[in-house]
Amino acid sequence: MQQDRTRELELAVAAVRQAAQVTQAVQRRLVTADTLIKKDRSPVTVADFASQAVVCHAIKQVLPNDAIVGEEDAHALRQADNAAVRDAVVEQVRAVVGQASPEQVLSWVDCGGAAPDPQGRFWTLDPIDGTKGFLRGEQYAIALALIEQGRVVLGVLGCPNLPGTGGSRGVVMAAVRGTGTQALPLVGRGLAGAQKVRVSSIDAPDQARFCESVESSHSDQGQSARVAGLLGITAEPVRMDSQAKYAAVARGEASIYLRLPTRPDYRECIWDHAAGAIVVEEAGGRVTDVAGRPLEFSHGKRLEQNQGVIATNARIHDAVLQTVQAVLQPST
Ligand code: AMP
Ligand code: MG
Repeated sequence: MQQDRTRELELAVAAVRQAAQVTQAVQRRLVTADTLIKKDRSPVTVADFASQAVVCHAIKQVLPNDAIVGEEDAHALRQADNAAVRDAVVEQVRAVVGQASPEQVLSWVDCGGAAPDPQGRFWTLDPIDGTKGFLRGEQYAIALALIEQGRVVLGVLGCPNLPGTGGSRGVVMAAVRGTGTQALPLVGRGLAGAQKVRVSSIDAPDQARFCESVESSHSDQGQSARVAGLLGITAEPVRMDSQAKYAAVARGEASIYLRLPTRPDYRECIWDHAAGAIVVEEAGGRVTDVAGRPLEFSHGKRLEQNQGVIATNARIHDAVLQTVQAVLQPST
C-alpha cells in the first residue's frame, strides 16, 4: 500500500517556497551590490542561514518531533564579531515568518543539527545548494528530502532561477516515491498548478544533451568531454550549478547529468543528492554512481559507498555507464 504523503509534500513545498523568498531577496541585493560579492562573503552566509531557519521553522511547526539534518549550524552566528551577519539573518527570516527574537532564529538554524539515523526517519536540507552559482546570480537550489530507513521517500527542489511554466521564472520540482514528479510554480498555494514531468524519451545516446557542474573542481570536465565524444554527442555540455541539473534531466531538457570524481577520496553529501535523485527517478529516470551502484543514503551525512553520480533518462543509462567506466578505468 502506498502511504499517503500529501501532508508532508504540502509542508515541504511550502517550506521551500518560503526559503526561496529569502534567498531571492538576498540574491537581488547581491547582484546589485557587486563589490559585496567579491570582498565579503557574508551575504551568502546570510542566505544560507536564513533559508535553513525558515525551512526548519516550517517543518517543526507541523512535525515538531521530526529530525532535520541540514548543512548549516548557528555556531558562527553566536560569535560576537559576526553580529552584523546574525542581524541580517534575523531580518531576512522575520520578513518571511513574522516577529521572532534573534535567539529563536538561531535555534531554528540549529534545528538542522540532527545526526542521521540509518534506521530512522529524518529530513535532509541543503538551504542553498550551488553557492557559487548563487553568488554569480546564476543557478542554485533549495533542496529538501525525507529519508526513511535509508530510502529517500520524498524530495522537493526549489530552483528560483530555472525557467518556470508560462514564461515565469523559478520552479519547484516535487517527487513522492511511487507517485511521480511534479513541477509547481515557485510562487503559489499548495499543490495548485502541479504538472507531471517526464524524462526525455530518446534512445540514442548521441542525441543526448548532457549537463555537469560549472565548477571543474566538483566534476572532471575533461573526462566528461571524453565520455561525450565516445557517445557521439556533439552538443556542448550544459553547465549549471546545484541540483538544478537533476531538475533539467527530470523534465527532459537534458538526458544525462555526469558528476565524475575529481578526487578519489571525495564522498558526496546526502543533502547534495537526495532530493535531486528522487526527482529524476520518479520522472522515469535512473540514478547511480560511476560504478553503477544505487546511491545509498544510510551511511551518515555522506554517500560513503558511492563515488560520483550518473543520472539519465534511464533508457540510455547502461550505455552511458559503460562509457564512463571505459574512460575512468582504461583497460591496460
Ligand atoms: P555543483 O553546484 O553541482 O557543482 O555542486 C555543489 C556542491 O558540490 C556543493 O554543495 C559541495 O558540497 C559539493 N562539492 C564540494 N567539493 C566537491 C568535490 N571535490 N567533488 C564533488 N562535489 C563537491
Ligand atoms: Mg550543496
